[in-house]
Amino acid sequence: MEAVSSNSTIFTSPDTYLGIYNELSKYNVHLNIFERLWASWYQYMQNDVLATGILSFVMHETVYFGRSLPWIIIDRIPYFKKYKIQGQKIPTVAEQWACTKLVLLSHFTVELPQIWLFHPMAKMCGMETGVPFPAWTTMAFHIAIFFVVEDTWHYWVHRAMHWGPLYKNIHKIHHQYSAPFGLAAEYASPIEVLVLGLGTVAAPIGWVLITGNLHILTMYLWIILRLFQAIDAHSGYEFPWSLHHFLPFWAGAEHHDVHHERFIGNYSSSFRWWDYVMDTESGPEAAKKRRERKQAKLQQAQRKVQ
Ligand SMILES: [Zn+2]
Ligand SMILES: [Zn+2]
Repeated sequence: MEAVSSNSTIFTSPDTYLGIYNELSKYNVHLNIFERLWASWYQYMQNDVLATGILSFVMHETVYFGRSLPWIIIDRIPYFKKYKIQGQKIPTVAEQWACTKLVLLSHFTVELPQIWLFHPMAKMCGMETGVPFPAWTTMAFHIAIFFVVEDTWHYWVHRAMHWGPLYKNIHKIHHQYSAPFGLAAEYASPIEVLVLGLGTVAAPIGWVLITGNLHILTMYLWIILRLFQAIDAHSGYEFPWSLHHFLPFWAGAEHHDVHHERFIGNYSSSFRWWDYVMDTESGPEAAKKRRERKQAKLQQAQRKVQ
């Protein structure tokens, strides 16, 4: 009994995170549990830059490896082999480990300093960091806009990366795996991580500079969803329940896998419309349609001449 009571005094002391949480909850009954956890964290840290830095770095690592893990497990289960897009190319453990090492290296060298600079930059741009949080509808609306803007950035920059010198010097690393897997989503040159990642960060920054209305939590949720999108697009699996069957303009793994297999076309990240409009769709079906269109045009021209 004694041990329990001494423990509880330790945990509820106002110097501990839990103590601050309890104290804050007493006077802020209008806040929900997430808002209380959030506010307590910033109060506990007493340093907003460090609080945001640690939170975002831990979040990034947890989501990146947490989301990749189910795909690593699925690779080892024979039942799922029938859903693998490039059936014979299951990544080996050694390949996955080599990939993890490079990804970790770039997380600690390229991404960590950026994540650290994030709070001052967010504040400078007028991003909200306090509680209460915005309504979920507001967050969903902002995130939808970021998806569309990032996809556009990704399409053009990625397409440019396939231009000879840029491909050879930068983008080639990402194409080391012609049959991608979840962990390979951020397997890329640090320059590529920086330049393509700019679309993920610049969309919210641009938005808050124009409208003055954005909460840092929305930015977190956006980055989490964008990580899910990138990892799933590299998973190498196409299921009957994959999202693009319900949202036909969603790209998904089926779209990006062909890009890795053929090195050409399908440059977008989240959606299919840019490749459709710019006629850069990849794969045998798209090539066949392109041939048919060309032939039809040719026949039309011949008829005009006659
Ligand atoms: Zn590429
Ligand atoms: Zn890729």
